[in-house]
Amino acid sequence: MICLGIEGTAHSIGVGIVRNNNGNCEVLSNLIKAYRPEKGGIHPREAANHHATNIADLIKESVKKSQIDFSDVDLVSFSSGPGLGPCLRTAATAARALSLSLKKPIIGVNHCVAHLEIGRGTLNDCNDPVLLYTSGANTQVIAFAEGKYRVFGETLDIGIGNCLDKFGRSVGLEFPSGPKIEKLAIKGKKYLELPYSIKGMDIAFSGLLTAAEQYYNNGEKLEDTCYSIQETTFAALTEITERAMAHTEKDEVLLGGGVAANNRLRDMVQTMASERNASFFVPSKDLCVDNGAMIAWLGVLMHNSGVRMKVENSYIDQRFRTDMVDVTWRD
Ligand code: AMP
Ligand code: MG
Repeated sequence: MICLGIEGTAHSIGVGIVRNNNGNCEVLSNLIKAYRPEKGGIHPREAANHHATNIADLIKESVKKSQIDFSDVDLVSFSSGPGLGPCLRTAATAARALSLSLKKPIIGVNHCVAHLEIGRGTLNDCNDPVLLYTSGANTQVIAFAEGKYRVFGETLDIGIGNCLDKFGRSVGLEFPSGPKIEKLAIKGKKYLELPYSIKGMDIAFSGLLTAAEQYYNNGEKLEDTCYSIQETTFAALTEITERAMAHTEKDEVLLGGGVAANNRLRDMVQTMASERNASFFVPSKDLCVDNGAMIAWLGVLMHNSGVRMKVENSYIDQRFRTDMVDVTWRD
Protein backbone atom coordinates (compact mmCIF):
# COMPACT_ATOMS: atom_id res chain seq x y z
CA MET A 1 0.00 0.00 0.00
CA ILE A 2 1.17 3.52 -0.84
CA CYS A 3 -0.13 6.48 1.15
CA LEU A 4 0.27 10.21 0.59
CA GLY A 5 0.18 12.19 3.83
CA ILE A 6 -0.36 15.92 4.27
CA GLU A 7 0.87 17.68 7.41
CA GLY A 8 -0.11 21.27 8.14
CA THR A 9 -0.63 21.74 11.86
CA ALA A 10 1.49 24.87 12.29
CA HIS A 11 4.21 26.81 10.48
CA SER A 12 5.16 24.15 7.95
CA ILE A 13 3.32 22.31 5.22
CA GLY A 14 4.59 18.86 4.35
CA VAL A 15 3.75 16.14 1.88
CA GLY A 16 5.18 12.65 2.31
CA ILE A 17 4.64 9.41 0.45
CA VAL A 18 5.33 6.07 2.12
CA ARG A 19 5.05 2.41 1.15
CA ASN A 20 4.22 -0.39 3.55
CA ASN A 21 7.01 -2.97 3.30
CA ASN A 22 5.85 -5.90 5.42
CA GLY A 23 5.07 -3.64 8.34
CA ASN A 24 8.10 -1.38 7.88
CA CYS A 25 7.77 2.15 6.63
CA GLU A 26 9.62 2.93 3.42
CA VAL A 27 9.72 6.68 2.83
CA LEU A 28 9.52 7.43 -0.90
CA SER A 29 9.50 11.21 -0.53
CA ASN A 30 9.09 13.73 2.24
CA LEU A 31 8.95 17.40 1.26
CA ILE A 32 8.47 20.31 3.66
CA LYS A 33 8.01 24.03 3.15
CA ALA A 34 8.19 26.26 6.20
CA TYR A 35 6.53 29.64 6.64
CA ARG A 36 8.83 32.25 8.16
CA PRO A 37 7.12 35.25 9.73
CA GLU A 38 8.85 38.53 8.86
CA LYS A 39 8.66 39.51 12.48
CA GLY A 40 7.06 38.15 15.63
CA GLY A 41 5.51 34.73 15.99
CA ILE A 42 3.35 32.61 13.70
CA HIS A 43 0.20 34.34 12.50
CA PRO A 44 -2.24 31.43 11.90
CA ARG A 45 -4.00 33.01 8.91
CA GLU A 46 -0.73 33.96 7.21
CA ALA A 47 0.70 30.51 7.79
CA ALA A 48 -2.47 28.99 6.28
CA ASN A 49 -2.15 31.27 3.23
CA HIS A 50 1.44 30.08 2.85
CA HIS A 51 0.25 26.47 2.96
CA ALA A 52 -2.52 27.10 0.42
CA THR A 53 -0.02 28.72 -1.96
CA ASN A 54 2.41 25.82 -1.77
CA ILE A 55 0.38 22.65 -1.31
CA ALA A 56 -0.51 21.85 -4.94
CA ASP A 57 3.11 22.08 -6.13
CA LEU A 58 4.35 20.10 -3.12
CA ILE A 59 1.93 17.27 -3.91
CA LYS A 60 3.06 17.16 -7.55
CA GLU A 61 6.74 17.29 -6.56
CA SER A 62 6.26 14.52 -4.01
CA VAL A 63 4.67 12.19 -6.52
CA LYS A 64 7.44 12.92 -9.01
CA LYS A 65 10.20 12.45 -6.44
CA SER A 66 8.67 9.12 -5.39
CA GLN A 67 8.82 7.95 -9.02
CA ILE A 68 5.20 6.88 -8.92
CA ASP A 69 2.02 8.00 -10.68
CA PHE A 70 -0.97 9.55 -8.97
CA SER A 71 -2.83 6.32 -9.78
CA ASP A 72 -0.37 4.41 -7.52
CA VAL A 73 -1.59 6.28 -4.44
CA ASP A 74 -3.92 3.98 -2.47
CA LEU A 75 -4.75 6.27 0.45
CA VAL A 76 -4.66 9.97 1.37
CA SER A 77 -4.09 11.00 4.98
CA PHE A 78 -3.83 14.34 6.76
CA SER A 79 -3.16 15.57 10.27
CA SER A 80 -6.52 16.38 11.79
CA GLY A 81 -5.03 17.95 14.94
CA PRO A 82 -3.88 19.26 17.31
CA GLY A 83 -2.82 22.51 15.69
CA LEU A 84 -3.78 25.95 14.44
CA GLY A 85 -7.32 26.01 12.99
CA PRO A 86 -6.68 27.82 9.69
CA CYS A 87 -3.60 25.68 8.98
CA LEU A 88 -5.40 22.41 9.79
CA ARG A 89 -8.34 23.37 7.57
CA THR A 90 -6.05 24.18 4.64
CA ALA A 91 -4.26 20.81 4.83
CA ALA A 92 -7.55 18.95 5.29
CA THR A 93 -9.13 20.72 2.31
CA ALA A 94 -6.21 19.70 0.10
CA ALA A 95 -6.48 16.10 1.33
CA ARG A 96 -10.23 15.99 0.64
CA ALA A 97 -9.78 17.40 -2.87
CA LEU A 98 -7.06 14.85 -3.61
CA SER A 99 -9.07 11.95 -2.19
CA LEU A 100 -12.12 12.90 -4.26
CA SER A 101 -10.21 13.44 -7.49
CA LEU A 102 -8.18 10.21 -7.15
CA LYS A 103 -11.24 8.32 -5.84
CA LYS A 104 -9.10 6.96 -3.01
CA PRO A 105 -9.99 6.75 0.70
CA ILE A 106 -9.13 9.53 3.12
CA ILE A 107 -8.10 9.27 6.75
CA GLY A 108 -7.43 11.98 9.35
CA VAL A 109 -4.76 11.18 11.94
CA ASN A 110 -3.49 12.51 15.25
CA HIS A 111 -0.28 14.49 14.81
CA CYS A 112 1.34 13.53 18.13
CA VAL A 113 0.71 9.81 17.65
CA ALA A 114 2.29 10.10 14.18
CA HIS A 115 5.54 11.35 15.78
CA LEU A 116 5.70 8.12 17.77
CA GLU A 117 4.64 5.74 15.00
CA ILE A 118 7.23 7.02 12.53
CA GLY A 119 9.94 5.98 14.99
CA ARG A 120 8.44 2.50 15.38
CA GLY A 121 7.95 2.22 11.61
CA THR A 122 11.41 3.29 10.47
CA LEU A 123 13.85 2.34 13.26
CA ASN A 124 14.90 -1.27 13.77
CA ASP A 125 14.26 -2.56 17.30
CA CYS A 126 12.15 0.46 18.23
CA ASN A 127 8.99 -1.37 19.23
CA ASP A 128 7.46 -0.01 22.39
CA PRO A 129 9.13 3.27 23.27
CA VAL A 130 8.39 6.09 25.64
CA LEU A 131 8.33 9.12 23.34
CA LEU A 132 9.72 12.44 24.49
CA TYR A 133 8.00 14.72 22.01
CA THR A 134 9.52 18.18 22.03
CA SER A 135 8.39 20.62 19.39
CA GLY A 136 7.42 24.25 19.02
CA ALA A 137 3.91 24.01 20.40
CA ASN A 138 3.87 20.54 21.94
CA THR A 139 5.82 18.98 24.77
CA GLN A 140 4.60 15.57 25.91
CA VAL A 141 5.87 12.27 27.26
CA ILE A 142 3.78 9.59 25.55
CA ALA A 143 3.68 5.81 25.87
CA PHE A 144 1.34 2.97 24.99
CA ALA A 145 -0.67 1.49 27.87
CA GLU A 146 -3.91 -0.47 27.82
CA GLY A 147 -5.07 0.27 24.29
CA LYS A 148 -4.15 3.94 24.11
CA TYR A 149 -1.24 6.28 23.81
CA ARG A 150 -1.27 7.91 27.23
CA VAL A 151 0.22 11.24 28.12
CA PHE A 152 2.40 10.65 31.16
CA GLY A 153 3.59 14.21 31.42
CA GLU A 154 3.27 17.41 29.44
CA THR A 155 3.79 21.12 29.54
CA LEU A 156 1.27 23.07 31.54
CA ASP A 157 1.92 26.26 29.59
CA ILE A 158 4.14 26.64 26.51
CA GLY A 159 6.05 24.05 24.47
CA ILE A 160 9.82 23.83 24.92
CA GLY A 161 10.45 25.01 21.33
CA ASN A 162 8.16 27.96 21.92
CA CYS A 163 10.08 28.77 25.12
CA LEU A 164 13.37 28.80 23.20
CA ASP A 165 11.90 30.82 20.31
CA LYS A 166 10.32 33.37 22.67
CA PHE A 167 13.56 33.84 24.56
CA GLY A 168 15.36 34.18 21.23
CA ARG A 169 12.91 36.79 20.03
CA SER A 170 13.26 38.86 23.19
CA VAL A 171 17.06 38.97 22.82
CA GLY A 172 17.04 39.59 19.06
CA LEU A 173 17.79 36.12 17.66
CA GLU A 174 16.12 35.01 14.44
CA PHE A 175 13.24 32.50 14.28
CA PRO A 176 13.62 29.59 14.85
CA SER A 177 15.94 30.36 17.74
CA GLY A 178 16.46 26.80 19.04
CA PRO A 179 19.49 26.10 16.82
CA LYS A 180 21.01 29.53 17.60
CA ILE A 181 20.58 29.00 21.33
CA GLU A 182 22.24 25.61 20.98
CA LYS A 183 25.32 27.19 19.37
CA LEU A 184 25.54 29.96 21.98
CA ALA A 185 25.05 27.49 24.85
CA ILE A 186 28.20 25.59 23.85
CA LYS A 187 30.19 28.72 24.78
CA GLY A 188 28.38 29.21 28.08
CA LYS A 189 30.27 28.38 31.28
CA LYS A 190 28.42 29.94 34.20
CA TYR A 191 25.24 28.25 35.39
CA LEU A 192 22.53 30.73 36.36
CA GLU A 193 19.92 29.32 38.69
CA LEU A 194 16.52 29.09 36.94
CA PRO A 195 13.13 27.80 38.11
CA TYR A 196 12.97 24.02 37.72
CA SER A 197 9.22 23.51 37.49
CA ILE A 198 8.04 19.93 37.59
CA LYS A 199 4.55 19.51 38.99
CA GLY A 200 3.70 15.86 39.43
CA MET A 201 4.71 14.53 36.03
CA ASP A 202 4.00 17.81 34.24
CA ILE A 203 6.34 20.62 33.47
CA ALA A 204 6.15 24.40 33.02
CA PHE A 205 8.43 26.82 31.20
CA SER A 206 6.98 30.32 31.33
CA GLY A 207 8.45 31.24 34.73
CA LEU A 208 11.86 30.07 33.58
CA LEU A 209 11.48 32.13 30.40
CA THR A 210 10.81 35.31 32.39
CA ALA A 211 13.70 34.61 34.76
CA ALA A 212 16.08 33.99 31.83
CA GLU A 213 15.03 37.26 30.18
CA GLN A 214 15.71 39.06 33.46
CA TYR A 215 19.21 37.59 33.73
CA TYR A 216 20.00 38.77 30.22
CA ASN A 217 18.49 42.23 30.79
CA ASN A 218 20.53 42.54 33.99
CA GLY A 219 23.78 42.05 32.09
CA GLU A 220 24.45 38.32 32.23
CA LYS A 221 26.12 36.97 29.11
CA LEU A 222 23.85 35.60 26.38
CA GLU A 223 26.02 32.46 26.16
CA ASP A 224 25.63 31.76 29.89
CA THR A 225 21.89 32.43 29.77
CA CYS A 226 21.41 30.05 26.81
CA TYR A 227 23.53 27.42 28.52
CA SER A 228 21.47 27.70 31.71
CA ILE A 229 18.16 27.53 29.84
CA GLN A 230 19.21 24.34 28.07
CA GLU A 231 20.65 22.68 31.17
CA THR A 232 17.54 23.39 33.22
CA THR A 233 14.77 22.65 30.72
CA PHE A 234 16.43 19.57 29.24
CA ALA A 235 17.18 18.13 32.69
CA ALA A 236 13.51 18.52 33.64
CA LEU A 237 12.40 16.89 30.36
CA THR A 238 14.81 14.02 30.93
CA GLU A 239 13.56 13.59 34.48
CA ILE A 240 9.88 13.22 33.56
CA THR A 241 10.81 10.89 30.69
CA GLU A 242 12.79 8.68 33.06
CA ARG A 243 9.94 8.61 35.52
CA ALA A 244 7.52 7.52 32.75
CA MET A 245 9.96 4.75 31.78
CA ALA A 246 10.21 3.56 35.37
CA HIS A 247 6.44 3.63 35.83
CA THR A 248 5.62 1.79 32.59
CA GLU A 249 8.66 -0.52 32.88
CA LYS A 250 9.61 0.23 29.28
CA ASP A 251 13.21 0.01 28.16
CA GLU A 252 13.12 2.10 24.99
CA VAL A 253 13.12 5.87 24.67
CA LEU A 254 12.41 7.74 21.44
CA LEU A 255 12.86 11.43 20.65
CA GLY A 256 10.58 13.38 18.32
CA GLY A 257 9.79 16.99 17.41
CA GLY A 258 12.05 19.78 16.18
CA VAL A 259 13.90 20.25 19.48
CA ALA A 260 15.11 16.63 19.20
CA ALA A 261 17.72 18.02 16.77
CA ASN A 262 19.50 19.47 19.81
CA ASN A 263 22.68 17.57 20.71
CA ARG A 264 22.61 18.51 24.37
CA LEU A 265 19.07 17.15 24.76
CA ARG A 266 20.09 13.98 22.90
CA ASP A 267 23.12 13.55 25.18
CA MET A 268 21.11 13.92 28.36
CA VAL A 269 18.39 11.48 27.30
CA GLN A 270 20.94 9.02 25.96
CA THR A 271 22.90 9.11 29.22
CA MET A 272 19.71 8.50 31.19
CA ALA A 273 18.82 5.58 28.87
CA SER A 274 22.21 3.92 29.16
CA GLU A 275 22.15 4.24 32.96
CA ARG A 276 18.87 2.29 32.89
CA ASN A 277 20.14 -0.25 30.30
CA ALA A 278 17.49 1.09 27.94
CA SER A 279 17.74 1.69 24.19
CA PHE A 280 17.82 5.21 22.82
CA PHE A 281 16.27 6.10 19.45
CA VAL A 282 16.05 9.24 17.40
CA PRO A 283 14.72 9.35 13.81
CA SER A 284 16.55 11.27 11.07
CA LYS A 285 15.98 15.01 11.30
CA ASP A 286 13.44 15.17 8.45
CA LEU A 287 11.33 12.58 10.30
CA CYS A 288 11.70 14.34 13.68
CA VAL A 289 10.24 17.66 12.56
CA ASP A 290 6.64 18.00 11.42
CA ASN A 291 6.48 16.05 8.17
CA GLY A 292 4.07 14.38 5.77
CA ALA A 293 5.73 10.94 5.86
CA MET A 294 4.74 10.36 9.49
CA ILE A 295 1.15 11.35 8.69
CA ALA A 296 1.17 8.97 5.71
CA TRP A 297 2.55 6.12 7.83
CA LEU A 298 -0.04 6.51 10.58
CA GLY A 299 -2.69 6.56 7.82
CA VAL A 300 -1.39 3.18 6.62
CA LEU A 301 -1.49 1.69 10.13
CA MET A 302 -5.01 2.91 10.80
CA HIS A 303 -6.36 1.85 7.42
CA ASN A 304 -4.82 -1.62 7.72
CA SER A 305 -6.45 -2.05 11.10
CA GLY A 306 -9.87 -1.33 9.59
CA VAL A 307 -10.38 2.37 10.38
CA ARG A 308 -12.45 4.11 7.68
CA MET A 309 -13.50 7.73 7.28
CA LYS A 310 -15.90 9.45 4.92
CA VAL A 311 -14.90 12.75 3.32
CA GLU A 312 -17.92 14.43 4.94
CA ASN A 313 -16.69 13.25 8.35
CA SER A 314 -13.04 14.17 7.85
CA TYR A 315 -13.12 16.83 10.52
CA ILE A 316 -10.24 18.69 12.04
CA ASP A 317 -9.91 19.17 15.80
CA GLN A 318 -7.60 21.88 17.12
CA ARG A 319 -7.56 20.20 20.53
CA PHE A 320 -7.26 16.59 19.36
CA ARG A 321 -5.52 14.92 22.29
CA THR A 322 -3.13 12.01 22.05
CA ASP A 323 -5.21 9.90 24.44
CA MET A 324 -8.43 10.39 22.43
CA VAL A 325 -7.20 7.98 19.74
CA ASP A 326 -8.34 4.35 19.82
CA VAL A 327 -5.18 2.47 18.98
CA THR A 328 -6.67 -0.29 16.83
CA TRP A 329 -3.35 -1.31 15.23
CA ARG A 330 -1.54 -2.50 18.40
CA ASP A 331 -2.24 -5.32 20.82
P1 AMP B 1 8.49 21.51 15.26
O1 AMP B 1 7.42 22.33 15.95
O2 AMP B 1 8.49 20.08 15.67
O3 AMP B 1 8.51 21.69 13.76
O4 AMP B 1 9.89 22.08 15.77
C1 AMP B 1 10.23 23.44 15.68
C2 AMP B 1 10.96 23.85 16.95
O5 AMP B 1 12.20 23.16 17.06
C3 AMP B 1 11.28 25.34 16.98
O6 AMP B 1 10.81 25.84 18.21
C4 AMP B 1 12.80 25.38 16.91
O7 AMP B 1 13.37 26.47 17.60
C5 AMP B 1 13.18 24.06 17.54
N1 AMP B 1 14.51 23.58 17.17
C6 AMP B 1 14.96 23.25 15.94
N2 AMP B 1 16.26 22.89 15.98
C7 AMP B 1 16.66 22.98 17.28
C8 AMP B 1 17.88 22.78 17.99
N3 AMP B 1 18.99 22.37 17.37
N4 AMP B 1 17.88 22.98 19.33
C9 AMP B 1 16.76 23.38 19.97
N5 AMP B 1 15.59 23.61 19.36
C10 AMP B 1 15.53 23.43 18.03
MG1 MG C 1 5.07 18.07 15.66
